[in-house]
Amino acid sequence: MSPIVFIHSMDTVNQEQWLAQFNLLLPNETIVLEHQLTDEEASRVELAIAANPSVEVLARFPNLIWVQSLWAGVEAMVRSFRAINMAKARPTQLVRLIDPTLANTMSEAVLTWSLYLYRNIPEYLAQQKQNMWRPIPYPVIETVQVSVLGTGELGIASMNALVNQGFSVNSWSRNHKDIANVSHYSGKEGLVSLLKKTDILICLLPLTDHTQKLLNKETLGLLPKGAKLINFARGGIINHDDLTSLLDAGHLSHAVLDVFEEEPLSKDSPLWQHPKLSILPHISATTNVDSASKVVANNINNYRKNGTIPSSVDLERGY
Ligand code: NAP
Repeated sequence: MSPIVFIHSMDTVNQEQWLAQFNLLLPNETIVLEHQLTDEEASRVELAIAANPSVEVLARFPNLIWVQSLWAGVEAMVRSFRAINMAKARPTQLVRLIDPTLANTMSEAVLTWSLYLYRNIPEYLAQQKQNMWRPIPYPVIETVQVSVLGTGELGIASMNALVNQGFSVNSWSRNHKDIANVSHYSGKEGLVSLLKKTDILICLLPLTDHTQKLLNKETLGLLPKGAKLINFARGGIINHDDLTSLLDAGHLSHAVLDVFEEEPLSKDSPLWQHPKLSILPHISATTNVDSASKVVANNINNYRKNGTIPSSVDLERGY
């Protein structure tokens, strides 16, 4: 059995945390770091655990059968895999992390920041700075239309939390879905109908060729006046100039942004100081080492037992 290579660019403390878990949960496997292998040894490696490996590092492993990502979002890895697979007769498969704990963490974030927007917390924070005592009326929760773009692992868990809280929930994805207590939309026309009725829009789409700058002047302009936005997916899905123009014009009232095209967000970015933006440092759903390593170990054990590669990313589609 060839060793499993662990490819990453994390610091030593994080590396040791992951390695300790893998060694505990996979006692029959040999887990090595990329630099510990000669090129000849690397050429025999069939399985990798990886966190955003570069094309150059992946190219050292020409016979990889599949790679387990430690992250749920694999946008950067999709690009690398398209590159390394170009000349391969048998493409390397990319398996992303599907962890119910992560989905639950995202659902907490979605609920937290939806309530923050619904109950006008940004306005109260601004009013407090001016010693201003001014109650702001708010509608009953059942009348608030919250729409989630993306009905995947994270979208579904988040919608369940929103429904349980009492919001009116809508969703949008490529394919038709039946989701209990959620009004579902798909296709371009579906997006238009959904946006026109949305009070709080939540983005949980992957960044692909089709979702790049999907949220722009035209689409965000379809939201009713005063609507609010949360982006917990990827920065490239939003045109930030269009977003700030709509905030400045008073068409949108506030946005919560956790993800940006360049991270960390530059200290010089005007987004930091925008009064209608809440900026977060990509924390809405961080990978939990304990739960994620169990998912990874389970996938690897199944593969060793019966040769089954977990459901992998469609590199053509981009997610
Ligand atoms: P997922 O399970 O792959 O679900 C993706 C969803 O997006 C699916 O419902 C899919 O539609 C829909 N979709 C994709 N392309 C579309 C298009 N062009 N038009 C309409 N719908 C489209 O992904 P996930 O696990 O829920 O994760 C979603 C994203 O969250 C990740 O890609 C990542 O960017 C982000 N993320 C962020 C954090 C954070 O901390 N901020 C953490 C983890 C992940 P179908 O169902 O019809 O295929």
